[in-house]
Amino acid sequence: MRKNYFLGLAANQKNVWRHLFTKATEEDAVELSKYLSRRYDGETILCKNGRSALALALKAYFNKGDKIIVNGFTCCAVYEAVKAAGLTPVFADINKKDLNFSINTLEQLWANPATHDGSPICGIIIQNTLGNPVDIKAIERFAGKHGLIIIEDLAHCAGLEYADGREAGTVGAAAVLSFGKDKSIDTTSGGAVVLRHHYMREIKTPDEPAHKSDCLRERFYPLFGSWCRRLTRIHLGGILMKFLLKVHFVERSADNKLDLSRKPANFEAKLALEQLKNLKPTEDKHLREFCLVKNRQAVLDELKEAGYYFDGFWYEKPVSPLRYYKKVHFDEESCPVATEVAEKIINLPIYYSKNDLKGAQEIIKKYTEDENE
Ligand SMILES: *Cc1c(COP(=O)(O)O)cnc(C)c1O
Repeated sequence: MRKNYFLGLAANQKNVWRHLFTKATEEDAVELSKYLSRRYDGETILCKNGRSALALALKAYFNKGDKIIVNGFTCCAVYEAVKAAGLTPVFADINKKDLNFSINTLEQLWANPATHDGSPICGIIIQNTLGNPVDIKAIERFAGKHGLIIIEDLAHCAGLEYADGREAGTVGAAAVLSFGKDKSIDTTSGGAVVLRHHYMREIKTPDEPAHKSDCLRERFYPLFGSWCRRLTRIHLGGILMKFLLKVHFVERSADNKLDLSRKPANFEAKLALEQLKNLKPTEDKHLREFCLVKNRQAVLDELKEAGYYFDGFWYEKPVSPLRYYKKVHFDEESCPVATEVAEKIINLPIYYSKNDLKGAQEIIKKYTEDENE
């Protein structure tokens, strides 16, 4: 295929400018809080990022040492939050169709005596991976039967409507939002939690303003990101990104630090509110489309050859990224499907238009796993 030098040029320039120049005040953060409290019907706490928001939700509802069921195909941010709250994750395997635990995998997990060694399982985090809804009715029944508190993680699925018409984030005891890079609400960083039941424990609300250096870095990220993607076509994008990471002008999403004392930047609160207001609940809320391919490296080589910049997959390991995976001590045998999917998955980047992606889809199709295998 001929190399296409114009891919992604129509990318969102408005977003770059909005990030750089949006003026905001404390008042914008208050507005966002009010909006979230209304939309998700609870009490809102704004946070530095999604993982801090999740950690606060867990601290509010669970005791140190409790176990909590986590989707066996997830981001290190979730693991970090579970650990920060002093809980132990119990990973549930997924299915290939929607990358979520299903009622079957949950029942199997529950039936395994090893699952119940030590402290009790008290909760379950619903993730709706990549915007694919779980079977909410069945999972609610399961949670009810076993007395589990449901926490909804909306990082991938803000605005998703479940099959029964309820909006994701209105079912569990808490709705956790991330405003991080490439999430369904994306202001580069930031997060929030809406606590819905009266909670067991007082938690300390973050009250320190965002770091100035973090704000500056986050304002520039969409600009730097777009430069890097463009320069990829002449093989310089990777070099520029390495340099920007080295001098800390850019931070990898996975490295965004959990911090329970800081608020998001005001400009992020303002942008998040704009995006949320435009987010109408629908059943079709794919965050990133995915396919499972047989020889991922070959696909990536061919995509690169054609001028596409495919940065990272959700997810390259059952708990991603690779750099953090070792720390998790993930038991691959207990989650064989998640382990296999992590080796085969490829996501379509969200910064290309549908038209731009046609060429990539043709390449990927040649390697796509047969559904009946
Ligand atoms: C990214 C992510 C979060 C939160 O991420 P932050 O980077 O801390 O905002 C939470 N859950 C999932 C599933 C995620 O992918």
